[in-house]
Amino acid sequence: MSQLVFLGPPGAGKGTQAKFLAEEKGLLHLSTGDMFRNAIAKGTPTGVQAKSYMDQGQLVPDSVVDALVVERLKEDDARGGYLLDGYPRNLSQAEALDGVLAEHGTKLDGVLFLDVPDDVLIARIVKRGEESGGARADDTEEVARERLVVYREHTEPLVKHYEAAGVLVRLDGTKSIDDVKAAVFAAVEGMSA
Ligand code: AMP
Repeated sequence: MSQLVFLGPPGAGKGTQAKFLAEEKGLLHLSTGDMFRNAIAKGTPTGVQAKSYMDQGQLVPDSVVDALVVERLKEDDARGGYLLDGYPRNLSQAEALDGVLAEHGTKLDGVLFLDVPDDVLIARIVKRGEESGGARADDTEEVARERLVVYREHTEPLVKHYEAAGVLVRLDGTKSIDDVKAAVFAAVEGMSA
C-alpha cells in the first residue's frame, strides 16, 4: 500500500506522470482538478461552486476541496493506496491530509516534486489549452499567469514543508516525458527499498 503525492506548478506534468505511475503500481489516481471538471460537467453543487474560482485561476476554498478528498479517500478503492495529483495545494490542505492519513492508520510514503521554470510552464499550458478543444477553460496565458502567482504564494511553501518532513523527492520536470517517467519510477522504487 502506498500513499503518494505529486507536487508541482500547473503544467509541470503531474497528471501525465501520475497516470503512468498509477497504472504501473495499480494505485488509485486522484486528481482534484479532474474531480472538479467532472462535477462541472455534471452540474453538481460542488461543480457550480468550483467553476468561478477555476476560471479565474484561483484555488477553490479549502472546505470544498478537503470535503471532496476526505469523502473520496473513504471509498474501498482507496484502500490499496493512492496517488494524489493537485492536492494538497496549501499548508491547510496538507494538514487536512495528515488528519485523513492518521485516521486511516497510514502515512505519506513520498512526495514527488516536478520542478519546472515559469517560461516553460506558460508555453506548455497554452499549448495544452489549444489542444484541449475548450475542455480546459483555464489554460489561457492570462489565467496561467494567475495560476502561477497562486502557486508561488500558496503551494510552493509545501516544497519546504515536505522537505523538512524528509519525504520530498525533487525531479527535473523539464526533461522529456519518458525521462521524467523513468526518474519517477526510480524514485518510487527507492522509497520502498
Ligand atoms: P489542476 O487540474 O490540478 O490544474 O486544477 C485546476 C483548477 O482546479 C485549479 O486552478 C483550482 O482552481 C482547482 N483546484 C484543483 N485542485 C485544487 C486544490 N487542491 N485546492 C484548490 N483548488 C484546486
